[in-house]
Amino acid sequence: MPKPHIPLEEIRAQVEGCRRCPLADGRTQTVFGVGNPAARVLIVGEAPGKNEDLQGEPFVGAAGKYLNELLSIAGLRREDVFIANVLKCRPPGNRDPRPEEIELCTPYLREQTRTIDPEFIVTLGNFSTKFILKTEVGITRLHGTLQRAGRFKVFPIFHPAAALYDSSKREALENDFTTLGQLLRESDAAAGMHEVDAGNAQGSPAALSTPAVPTDSNAGEGQAETQPDPASHVEQPHLL
Ligand code: SF4
Repeated sequence: MPKPHIPLEEIRAQVEGCRRCPLADGRTQTVFGVGNPAARVLIVGEAPGKNEDLQGEPFVGAAGKYLNELLSIAGLRREDVFIANVLKCRPPGNRDPRPEEIELCTPYLREQTRTIDPEFIVTLGNFSTKFILKTEVGITRLHGTLQRAGRFKVFPIFHPAAALYDSSKREALENDFTTLGQLLRESDAAAGMHEVDAGNAQGSPAALSTPAVPTDSNAGEGQAETQPDPASHVEQPHLL
């Protein structure tokens, strides 16, 4: 029998009191995550930076502003999605997360994911991509390809902060968010097609009047999954 989902506020309270790893000593506050608790898209970054630690919210400051612009390319507003990080406390000097910190902190991300139950998980950068897909394949190879972790669609993208220091990443980021928007629309169209099928089976007049959806409406998803095969390097996902 599946484990019941823990309410987000309960997980938040656990995070706020957490002292499992030494990052608790250097934090101003924990950064649980923010957004729509029933989001279709869960965005997973790396760890809080200085501004996030001060404000208690992920992706604020320049990287956050840029993320908002990128979301709009995909037809999303910040309030539509839920934004979280792999680590809930800031590593000193913005150094990379350490494996033991990831191991200790990610049970919270797992529970957040189970409770929010998104259709898509967008992993931003290497750390969240490697954790969620349980892979050693880097973001440079995986970005812009549709992957799976259990029942979730996973779409890895470069971390927006990367584009602030390396403008060559901007084009890739913007292309990938365009593709994300396409995947969302294709999934909507496919869901509409399933509704029509179900309605037809029941002889529903309302469903019969629904416009037909092209039969290749989910072709983009299939194409993304068959792109230059980084997926062959992805092991069994371990998110849930
Ligand atoms: S980083 Fe995670 S595991 Fe470490 S103290 Fe913060 S909430 Fe706890």
